[in-house]
Amino acid sequence: MSPEIKSYRGRLAPSPTGYLHLGHARTFWMAQERARAHGGALVLRNDDIDARRFKLEFVEAMIEDLHWFGFQWSEGPDCGGLRGPYNQSERFEFYRTALDQLRAGGFIYPCTCSRKDIAAAVHAPHASDDEAIYPGTCRLKQGAKGLHDEGIVSPVTRPLLPRTNWRFRVPDGEAIAFHDENLGPQQYVAGKDFGDFVVWRHDAVPAYQLSVVVDDAAMEITEVVRGADLLTSTARQLLLYRALGLPPPKFFHCPLMTDEAGVRLAKRHDATSLRKLRASGATPEALRRGW
Ligand code: GLU
Repeated sequence: MSPEIKSYRGRLAPSPTGYLHLGHARTFWMAQERARAHGGALVLRNDDIDARRFKLEFVEAMIEDLHWFGFQWSEGPDCGGLRGPYNQSERFEFYRTALDQLRAGGFIYPCTCSRKDIAAAVHAPHASDDEAIYPGTCRLKQGAKGLHDEGIVSPVTRPLLPRTNWRFRVPDGEAIAFHDENLGPQQYVAGKDFGDFVVWRHDAVPAYQLSVVVDDAAMEITEVVRGADLLTSTARQLLLYRALGLPPPKFFHCPLMTDEAGVRLAKRHDATSLRKLRASGATPEALRRGW
């Protein structure tokens, strides 16, 4: 059998920062349906890396709500599996190894700008995206010294500078194109649609972009199903796959669910949390009608 033909592996990757709502359920349902249609496996990963925002009660609630709704996974924090651990908080060494690899390859640079510095330098906040386009202040400081400004990095993990973000230097002007399995051809231009993004935060936590790539690769996920709000992140993540020499998965982005006023559902929309819906007598079957 060709090594190219891998059996389908999908994932649900909630962050335990609040109760799951109907929008999560719809995207996850699509992920489950696609895994089933391909006769593949579904992994539950607990994206609890951000200790500032995550709460243990939400992890328990998340698993309970997912079971109630009818999700079934074969690998996860509650049932184990060959490619665990499935809690991001237990996978630190994977992220650290990837960070060292990026550093050794000259793909990242230290950045001491505060959010305030960046806000002051960026005139127009970037539309649809949460990470402002970095104006390049610290990149320019490094520029003259070239990519390997830090010298040859030993294979032994070197200490990181305290209170420093590490940013991925994007190839300005390069069009990052990919085929979305749901939305068709997509293209984002590095330096225009997104800038040098944080891969490691000053509080010693890997950023979402890095942790998700490292985990999806290590867990051998073949297709990532998630919300369309992450399309630009996919472009960033493709750069990380390339820099780390990892094969990227396929991507399937789902349109986001909105409320009656057309506002995107978020964890703060308490009324559509699966908990509330369940308490008010709704059944998963009725909620899924028409999906
Ligand atoms: N834990 C992330 C989130 O909930 C996962 C996003 C993704 O699917 O890549 O936003």
